Amino acid sequence: MRIGHGYDVHRLVPERKLILGGVTVPHTLGLLGHSDADVLTHAIMDALLGAAGLGDIGQHFPDTDEQFHNIDSQLLLRQVMALLREKGYQVVNLDATLLAQKPRLAPYLPQMVETLAQSMDIEPERINVKATTEEGLGFTGQEQGIAAHCVVLLN
Ligand code: MG
Repeated sequence: MRIGHGYDVHRLVPERKLILGGVTVPHTLGLLGHSDADVLTHAIMDALLGAAGLGDIGQHFPDTDEQFHNIDSQLLLRQVMALLREKGYQVVNLDATLLAQKPRLAPYLPQMVETLAQSMDIEPERINVKATTEEGLGFTGQEQGIAAHCVVLLN
């Protein structure tokens, strides 16, 4: 068994889509980044790579590389899963938390789980995604950005 942890933050800005776990969430602001800035999927990929001892997403998908400009992070997640399978690892379970003041994410969580399960080619029952606010405190509370944590267990 191997455990991994991932953490990511992206800044909220106007005129960008808000994409979380592969799901486009209607909102007045979106996340800024070189890729689609899907902060949840990035935290998940870092947890997976960490558990497998394969470094981090910055090493595998550098943000200086034009081929990753505005790329759908679900495609990157598929590549990460292929790397894990090459090494003989399977996902036991994954638990993630989104930190966002707005918008209210609860209605979108089941769709995120479905989308992530498809990208990872695992049962949705192995994936848990939660969302919380930080009570108006700090950069997520002040709606400057959204953060995500993830822990994953491989065998
Ligand atoms: Mg990121």
